[in-house]
Amino acid sequence: MDNLGSNFIKDVMIKDLESGKHDKIITRFPPEPNGYLHIGHAKSIIINFGLADEFNGKTNLRFDDTNPLKEDIEYVNSIKEDVKWLGFEWDNLFFASDYFEEMYKRAVLLIKKGLAYVDDLSAEEIREYRGTLTSPGKESPYRDRSVEENLDLFERMRNGEFENGKKVLRAKIDMKSPNINLRDPVIYRISHTTHHNTGDKWCIYPMYAFAHPLEDAIEDVTHSICTVEFEDQRPLYNWVVEQCEMESTPQQIEFGRLNVTNTVMSKRKLKQLVDEGFVDGWDDPRMPTISGMRRKGFTPESIRNFVRETGVSKGSGAVDSQMLEHFVREDLKLKAPRTMGILNPLKVVITNYPEGQIELLDAEINPEVPEMGMRKIPFSREIYIEKDDFMENPPSKYFRLFPGNEVRLKHAYFIKCEEVIKDINGEVIELRCTYDPLTKSGTGFTGRKVKGTIHWVEATNSVPAEFRLYEPLILDKTEDGTEEEEKSFLDNVNPDSLVVLQGFVEPNMRESMPHDKFQFFRHGYFNVDPKHTTVDKLVFNRIVSLKSSFKI
Ligand code: ATP
Ligand code: MG
Repeated sequence: MDNLGSNFIKDVMIKDLESGKHDKIITRFPPEPNGYLHIGHAKSIIINFGLADEFNGKTNLRFDDTNPLKEDIEYVNSIKEDVKWLGFEWDNLFFASDYFEEMYKRAVLLIKKGLAYVDDLSAEEIREYRGTLTSPGKESPYRDRSVEENLDLFERMRNGEFENGKKVLRAKIDMKSPNINLRDPVIYRISHTTHHNTGDKWCIYPMYAFAHPLEDAIEDVTHSICTVEFEDQRPLYNWVVEQCEMESTPQQIEFGRLNVTNTVMSKRKLKQLVDEGFVDGWDDPRMPTISGMRRKGFTPESIRNFVRETGVSKGSGAVDSQMLEHFVREDLKLKAPRTMGILNPLKVVITNYPEGQIELLDAEINPEVPEMGMRKIPFSREIYIEKDDFMENPPSKYFRLFPGNEVRLKHAYFIKCEEVIKDINGEVIELRCTYDPLTKSGTGFTGRKVKGTIHWVEATNSVPAEFRLYEPLILDKTEDGTEEEEKSFLDNVNPDSLVVLQGFVEPNMRESMPHDKFQFFRHGYFNVDPKHTTVDKLVFNRIVSLKSSFKI
């Protein structure tokens, strides 16, 4: 598939193949099934699958399901769907929970080697004893329990003899290490929680920092690619692999997370938006989730091209969300049929057009791709135009419709506004116009020129449609993860991120299917919404408007 270009991770792989350290590249994408995947995960997916692909290697999809409290099978299924939709196929599907027995044995091995102990300190005390970046930690009074006592207590932890939080298993490394991760990290905790895969078989669960390196080693992963926050954990990662005497020694390599402006990108925050009703589910088109972007109308190609453009590096600045829009516009330009839709209808009666007559006009499906052929657009005495393509008292330089002015109807005729009909409140509800049969589009009429071209939809056969227009979900420009923003991200939720309009589309769109994509003249690219579209009403999500000032 798409090539990722040269980057420092690829360089390591090339070196390892050339030196004979590995004869095959094996990577993994290891999501925790505690939420839906977002665009940041897409980056990790593309790097892991993409790099392995380039070397004819393998990639596992591994669910890092070691924390039963937050995990769910719904998330497992959505993640599988999203990875496939992005265009990737895993070589193996694994669950970390399938390795619980193996992990337990490795923990026992550590105890036997005097490298792990059962601690009775509370979570609070462990935190206090840990010290800080500038002060060393303090050893737990339980640190010197005998191997026999530790083996006995650990087995009893497994057997369910203790309540949550009463005991933990800790690696015995160095409470004075300048790297806090090495100050006797907790590697097992008690949690009497049913697990989505192992049920009630276990009531002790391994911690991420212990489980992850073991999972990689068990699967013979050669390069364990993760984001830079894990850089400080690399010494612990290597310690676990070495001290647990794993045969394989995967290498952890970190790259910079993807951040995008005007959104949040952590499953915890996204879940909060869902749970607190700010959005209509994980697949709400405003969400930066893969499923939300799919529903909005993004294509897998556009997401892959975007991620490729962001590159693979250690840095993690926020990428402008407009860059994402740029790539979907580019992708759809040559794929999406052109059409016309009225988002804010105003009825126009063409008084000199024969009553009851319907004429079929010709238009290209996509002028940039002539092979896509032609479509027929009905025209009659009654049409809809956009409300804001008419002004009763226009400012100068307004070239659209106003009393006495003539405009071109795209693909049809010139019409001239003769009369304005209002309701009792003075609201304009209908226009009476005349048309000039000589000005038919495509006939080469040169008699006179008009300055404005507007779009329209024939009224008697038009199809009712709902248009959903989106603005950024988060008003704040970037998410840099500082504490202050952690607290306030909900305050930055844009209350006007969704505008719903009721209008009409061309009759030939009646048979549109969910996920069909169109370019509506002057309005941008739209996707048929798979959730709200019914036989009676088409619902369109605006993917992106037509133009942007953004340049890459
Ligand atoms: P979140 O903080 O959003 O919950 P996570 O890192 O906890 O994300 P995991 O399910 O553990 O999510 O992640 C699976 C993989 O995706 C990990 O290797 C992780 O580093 C990577 N990943 C997550 N977010 C990003 C991001 N914004 N950019 C690049 N990679 C990411
Ligand atoms: Mg996580």
